Amino acid sequence: MKQIITIPIETIEEVQLYLTTEKTTLKKIKEETQADFVINGGRMDLERLQESLSGILSETSLVASTEEVVSEQSSFAKDKVEKLHSVLLIRRKTEEAEERKIKTVCLDPGHGPDTVNESPDGSFKESEFTWDMYERIRSLLERQGIRVVGTRTKYEKPSLNDRCRISNEANADFFLSIHSNAAGAGGWNEARGLIIFTSSGPDTAPRNLAAKDILKWMREASVWIRGSGLAYNPDFYVLSHTNAPANLIEYGFHTNQEETALLKDFAYRNVLARATAKGICDFLGIPYTEEGEGQAVSSWAKEAWDKAVAKGILDGTRPKDPLTREEYAVTLDRLQLI
Ligand SMILES: [Zn+2]
Repeated sequence: MKQIITIPIETIEEVQLYLTTEKTTLKKIKEETQADFVINGGRMDLERLQESLSGILSETSLVASTEEVVSEQSSFAKDKVEKLHSVLLIRRKTEEAEERKIKTVCLDPGHGPDTVNESPDGSFKESEFTWDMYERIRSLLERQGIRVVGTRTKYEKPSLNDRCRISNEANADFFLSIHSNAAGAGGWNEARGLIIFTSSGPDTAPRNLAAKDILKWMREASVWIRGSGLAYNPDFYVLSHTNAPANLIEYGFHTNQEETALLKDFAYRNVLARATAKGICDFLGIPYTEEGEGQAVSSWAKEAWDKAVAKGILDGTRPKDPLTREEYAVTLDRLQLI
C-alpha cells in the first residue's frame, strides 16, 4: 500500500491548477512556482477539463483562466491544443496570509472643524457629529478585530482626494463616509430620514450589498429611513475615487427639528453606530459580538488566559476589554507583586 500525504484543509492557503503544453518536470515546476506541494494531474484534453471543472464550479474563474492559457499560447492555434499537462500546486498558509485576513475599514468623518453646516438653531454642527460618530463606530469595529483607518484627525480637514488616497493606501475592504443631511434654503424643513449613497448600480455590486446590510440593521433599530434608503450618486468624489466598496451615509437631516433632536442624543448615536458596525460586519463576513458578552479569547492568548482564570488572577470575563488602572492594581496585588 502506498503512503498518502494528508494536508489538513485549514493549512491550505491556495490550490492552483497549472496547465502547460510544454514538457517539464514536477521538480522544475516546484522550483519555479515555490509551491509547497506539486501534484501531477496527468495529460488531459481541454474540452474534458472544462467539462469537469464546470461540474464543480458553475461560473468558475478556472474555466476563464483556461481560456487565457490557450490565448496566451499564440503559437498554438486553439483547435490544436488537444493535450494539456495539468499540475496542481498547493500553497500552505503563511503568517503573512493570516495577517492579510484581518479586514480593514476606512472611516471618513465628513468635513472638518471649520465646516459651517449646522441646524437652523445652531445647536447641531455636522462636523462635530461626524467626528463623534466616527469615534463610536471605530471603537465598535475595533472590538470585532477589524483594523480601522481614519481619514483625518479631529482638527484637520483633508481634501477629498487625500481621503480617498488614505483608503486606497490602506487597501481598505470597505470605505464609509459619515455625514448628516440638509434640505431647504435655511430654516427648519420637513425632509427627514437616513439615506446611504453609493456611486452606482447594479444592486448586486459589493458597495450596494454593504449598504443593504447596514440598512437592514437600521430598520431593525427602527431608525427613520428615507425612501428605500439607498441612492446612487457618481458625483460624490469619495464614492468614485476609492478602490474599496464605498458608502456615504447621511444619518438624518439636521434641518429637521425632530430628527436633529435625535441626532444630538448620545443614546441615539449609539443606536446608529451599532447598526452601522453590525452592517459592516455582516458585509465583511465577521460575526458581531456585543460588548462584554460571549467574547472569544484569541487562540494565542488562550493558555495564559486559562491559567490566569484558574489561579483567580483574572475573573474570566471581558477578554478584549482594556485594563483600567484599578484593575491593574488589583491584578498586581493578586500576583503578590506589591
Ligand atoms: Zn456632509
